[in-house]
Amino acid sequence: MSNILEKIFSKKYFPPILTILVLLIGSLAIANLLSDTTIIIEQDNVVIRESAATNSNAIVELSSGDQVTVISSDNGWNRVRFGTYDGWIPQWLLDNQQLVSDQNIYAQILVNTPVYSSPDENSELITNLESGQYLPINYESNGWISVTLTDGVGYFRTRLVGLINPEQVPTAELTEEAMDEQALEAERLALQDIGVIRSDFQLLYDSPSVYADYIYEIDRDQTFTVLDIVTDDVGNEFAFVEDENGIRGYVEDRLVAYLADSVGHVGTTNPGSLADATILIDPGHGGEDPGAISYDELTYEKDVTLDTAYIIRDHLEALGAEVLMTRDDDSFVPLNGIVDISNQSNADVFISLHYDASLYPDWSGITTYYYHESDFSIADSINNELINVNMINNGTNFGNYHVIRENSRPAVLLELGYMSNTNDLVSIRSEDYRHNIAEAIVTGLSNYFDNQAANEASN
Ligand SMILES: [Zn+2]
Repeated sequence: MSNILEKIFSKKYFPPILTILVLLIGSLAIANLLSDTTIIIEQDNVVIRESAATNSNAIVELSSGDQVTVISSDNGWNRVRFGTYDGWIPQWLLDNQQLVSDQNIYAQILVNTPVYSSPDENSELITNLESGQYLPINYESNGWISVTLTDGVGYFRTRLVGLINPEQVPTAELTEEAMDEQALEAERLALQDIGVIRSDFQLLYDSPSVYADYIYEIDRDQTFTVLDIVTDDVGNEFAFVEDENGIRGYVEDRLVAYLADSVGHVGTTNPGSLADATILIDPGHGGEDPGAISYDELTYEKDVTLDTAYIIRDHLEALGAEVLMTRDDDSFVPLNGIVDISNQSNADVFISLHYDASLYPDWSGITTYYYHESDFSIADSINNELINVNMINNGTNFGNYHVIRENSRPAVLLELGYMSNTNDLVSIRSEDYRHNIAEAIVTGLSNYFDNQAANEASN
């Protein structure tokens, strides 16, 4: 909608005389424009058709600059009025100005696309088209594309594919790698606005504030379409979302997992056992970035994470695992660099080590974070052992942290106690505590790989 209004009010379509007219008539004219949705046609060869199908009769051909009034929109088609004419034009044609017309179109298969015997998801599934293919289409109608395959005519959803002119179909074969990357990009694009809430007891607010009234309590794993991101008075970001029933509201953006982020993420690997696994340890912070600093300025997070990493490394290597580290001295690796190291590794698990800090001195304990749903089991397996360490345990939680979100390897982030809590700090400073943590993490990893192997064997 805003797109259409932008077009209407943009200078390009607003000759000065009209501007003056609108200024004179004032709000009345604006109200008029708002209630009658007008589309200005920006390309040639747009045809109004008798029905919402590219193979239906053409009523009239429009020219660039023509204005039509939209009566209704459905399934990618607009019912429009143009002078005395009344008919249909496809929105996907208006959105895709690369397309020359609604005829002679190729479908670019972007994601695994089911093909049905009729334009109905309940009809017989004929086949699945794999991404990277290009097919000439018979016609498009009401959000469905008709194609002729070797085994007959089939139908798939228009929204799943790209629409291009025949000249745009690549002639040279793409390399497999380029095709894979293209498919991943397309999948990310298709999922870019889909968010999921992976925490219990979250609320859908009626305005962007945690003090606002709430509309309902969100189910764990509920998905939303994210329409916008807004910021409240104190700088917290809220996602403006719509649920599957069309109910709109606000959720804290830090709680939203975007499905597009998980495209290309390696969920699980199965090395067989910890002895055959590669573990990448990321000692949080380093160099110019001290991380949290204790109240007496004697303890820096960057030093404790590095020391903890050494102990974990020793334990893992003693059991035969291969251990990589994002740093093994007091150097600074930027977040992107950490992710690059991981994405270029074959790590079975990436573990980022941190110690927490809060303005609230009472906050205490260990928290295990994951971002990708497929990494929950690793996080939980580790946390199930950390529970045995003498420290409050805050559980396994979703956390929107860069180094795990952007990580293509299975990834978890551990906050191993609060440096801002006096009791926690005593533990954090003790070698015993770090050894206990390291043992718990190693046992958790070992259990995880054993479970993986057992699951694989039983399948
Ligand atoms: Zn940290």
